[in-house]
Amino acid sequence: MSQRVTIEQLADWLRDRDDIVVMGHVSPDGDATGSTLALWHALRAMGKRAVVCLPGGMPLLYAWLSGADQILDTETDTLPFEPKTALAVDVSEYDRLGEAGMKRFDSCLYQGVLDHHKTNEGFGQLFVLDGEAAAVGELAVDLITALGVGMDANMAECLFVAISTDCGNFNYSNTRPQTFIAAARCVEAGASADRITEKLYRTRTLGRTRLLGAVLAGLEVSPDGKVAWARLTDEMLRCCDADKEDSEGIINYLIEMIGVKVAVLAIERQEGTKLSLRSKTPFNVARDVAVPLGGGGHDCAAGVLLAMPLEEALQKTLAMAREAVDKTTAEMINA
Ligand code: 5GP
Ligand code: MN
Repeated sequence: MSQRVTIEQLADWLRDRDDIVVMGHVSPDGDATGSTLALWHALRAMGKRAVVCLPGGMPLLYAWLSGADQILDTETDTLPFEPKTALAVDVSEYDRLGEAGMKRFDSCLYQGVLDHHKTNEGFGQLFVLDGEAAAVGELAVDLITALGVGMDANMAECLFVAISTDCGNFNYSNTRPQTFIAAARCVEAGASADRITEKLYRTRTLGRTRLLGAVLAGLEVSPDGKVAWARLTDEMLRCCDADKEDSEGIINYLIEMIGVKVAVLAIERQEGTKLSLRSKTPFNVARDVAVPLGGGGHDCAAGVLLAMPLEEALQKTLAMAREAVDKTTAEMINA
C-alpha cells in the first residue's frame, strides 16, 4: 500500500536514505531527464551515493545538460553500487519504468515517487503527487529547497529544461503562477532562459528537420477537420537520418491546426506502436482515449503503447478519438 505524502515528508524520508537510484520513465522527455538529473545533482551535493537511470540512457536531445553523460541506461548498464533506495520521477504508473526499471525499483528496500500526472494512482511505499503542477520540475525545485540544498547553476539549468518542456515554454494551459515562480528561481540560480530555449526550440539537426517534413507529408484529417493524424515509421527515420527522439514536438503541428480537436501521431516501435495524443480543451485525450487503451498522461497530452502493427494501432485509436470528439461536441451543445 503506498502512502501519499507532502514534499516536506518526502524530503525528510530522502534525508535518511542513501545509495539512491533516481529513475525516469520510458521514452524520457525533457521533464523526466531534467528532473532526475537535477535531483541526482542535489543528492550528491548532500554527500549521498546516487545514480541516475533512464530507459535507453541519455536522450541525445538533452546531451548538453551538465551531468547528462553520467546518466546510465536502466536496461543495459551495471550500476556502480547496489542501490537501497529508488526514487521514480515523472513516472505516471509503475509500468512506465520499463521492464528493467520495474525490476530495479523492486530490488530496492525503499521506494519513493515524485510525480504530477493526474492519472497516477500511486505506487512505491510513498509518493508525492501534484496533478496541478505543469512539470515534475516544478515539484523538484520545492523538493531541493526542502532538502536544504542550495540550487546551483547545474541543477537550475536541468530544472528549467524540465519545466519549460512540459508546459510548452509557458504556453500551455497547465502553466500556473507556481510554474513561473519555479522557473524564476531557476533563473535566479543561474539558468539562462536564452541559452536554454535556443537549444530547445530554436535549433534542430538536418535529420530532425527532414523528419518533420516526411511526417507532415503524410498528414491526414477527418472530413469534418476535427481529427488529425500522421505516421512515423522506422523507414522514415532511416531515410531522414533522424533519431527516434526527433519525433518530439511533431505532434504540435497537428493539434495546432485550426479546427482540429484531437491529434494522433502513430510511431513505429520495436514493441509495437506508440500513439502520441493531443487535444484542445475540453476534449480530453487522457480520459477518453489513452486510459481506456491502457495508457495515460494529461488531459490534453497523453499516450499509449499498443502491441500491434502501426496501421492496426492507428485505426483502433482513431475510432476512439472519433467517439471522444463526438461525445464532447454533443456535451458542449447540450451544456
Ligand atoms: P508524448 O506524446 O509526448 O510522448 O506523451 C505525452 C504524455 O502522455 C506524457 O506526459 C506521458 O506522461 C504520457 N504518455 C505517453 N506515452 C504513454 C504511455 O505509453 N503510457 C502512459 N501511461 N502514459 C503515456
Ligand atoms: Mn512531466
